[in-house]
Amino acid sequence: MIETDVIVVGSGPAGSSAAKHAALGGAKVILMDKKSEIGAPKRCAEGVSIQGLEKLGIEPSPRWVTQEIQGVRLQAPDGTDVWLTKDEVKLPEAGYILERKVFDKHMAMDAARAGAEIKIKTLVTGIEKIDNGYIVETECMGEKIDYKCKILIAADGPEGHVARWAGLRPAAKAKEMESGVQYEMCNVEFERPGVIEFYFGSCAPGGYVWIFPKGDDIANVGLAILPHKAEKTAKEYLDDFVATSPYLKNAQAVELNVGGDPVGGMTKKLYDDNIMVVGDAAGQVNPLTGGGIISGMTGGMCAGQVAAQAIKEDCSKKFLKQYDKMAHDELDHEIKRYKKVQEYLLTLSDDELDSIAHAFEDESFEKISTTEIVKKLIKISPKALLKLGKFI
Ligand SMILES: Cc1cc2nc3c(=O)[nH]c(=O)nc-3n(C[C@H](O)[C@H](O)[C@H](O)COP(=O)(O)OP(=O)(O)OC[C@H]3O[C@@H](n4cnc5c(N)ncnc54)[C@H](O)[C@@H]3O)c2cc1C
Repeated sequence: MIETDVIVVGSGPAGSSAAKHAALGGAKVILMDKKSEIGAPKRCAEGVSIQGLEKLGIEPSPRWVTQEIQGVRLQAPDGTDVWLTKDEVKLPEAGYILERKVFDKHMAMDAARAGAEIKIKTLVTGIEKIDNGYIVETECMGEKIDYKCKILIAADGPEGHVARWAGLRPAAKAKEMESGVQYEMCNVEFERPGVIEFYFGSCAPGGYVWIFPKGDDIANVGLAILPHKAEKTAKEYLDDFVATSPYLKNAQAVELNVGGDPVGGMTKKLYDDNIMVVGDAAGQVNPLTGGGIISGMTGGMCAGQVAAQAIKEDCSKKFLKQYDKMAHDELDHEIKRYKKVQEYLLTLSDDELDSIAHAFEDESFEKISTTEIVKKLIKISPKALLKLGKFI
């Protein structure tokens, strides 16, 4: 039996962030992942906000940034485009497209440099609650090894089992789990370089299609749907999109990524005695974009900091409640706001999306703000505005 203070299950962005901050706070940390290569395969379109990285104190590195985002293209079902590019509009956030396989490894390296021990190819097969801690059962390269820790951090992603094993509810109900599928492609043509593209409407029911450029002629081309709103599988929708997009007529897939994205908001119970849940496993995901890198790492940072302090003071749920407060203070505002926008978008038909795009296509913005958007929406179909009213 190997003993340690903190065990983090899952070395995605949330887990590595938790491990790093727990180690920085002086705890003895083991970070484990079933993968033999941290970060691979990726299940991500790899978009991330620069301000988000800055807030986490992460210096961008050319090793894992593939493209700085130059703007956004929003396309309605009838093909109407709204372009919001950096040279014309002050965008609320700047962003990068990452190379997640490299980024995730670097985040794990940061955790290691802070003092965490990393165990790759280590599958957690079960946990057992003991007095003041957990036994964590693992299989590492064919060998069964048990660990004992005072704090367990579940960072095992959208399909994670650890929180459920501990009696905490899963992050997402099936209805709130988006189904994502993506090809990484080359030979992609871009109308404006460096611009991330979103396609809305019945091409991806309950979600949207994206084309995220990764430099040269490379892009992540994918979509997410809410299966209960859809008539086909996510892959069928994506193949239809790829077959009809003029920008993809010569494109070739070099990678297929498939994954669930919990967009229902944060789990009610993020902690219990000796355990905290972070990242996708805790529903720390933007419900509109499905983005969970920055929010998961933020949740991980909060849990790591609380874990380090708990080791010195008290590992009971009374103390770990602090993590719940920190995570809600950091993430609630954004998650709740974007949930409303997502719910609003879900009510719009293709025709309504078209009419919104028509109202916006020739408008010039100096900067994007909620007031500006609502002002423009007032000009549009009263029905669409009425629906928006319900969500404000
Ligand atoms: C198609 C798609 C596109 C997306 N695009 C974006 C995007 O552009 N931007 C963005 O911010 N987010 C995006 N997301 C979401 C983003 O990928 C996740 O929010 C993010 O990876 C969550 O990080 P995490 O650390 O919580 O979990 P994960 O990254 O899923 O990491 C969990 C880790 O736990 C490990 N693990 C699981 N079970 C065990 C076990 N029993 N034992 C040991 N290890 C285990 C896994 O191997 C994995 O490495 C996308 C998601 C999908 C599906």
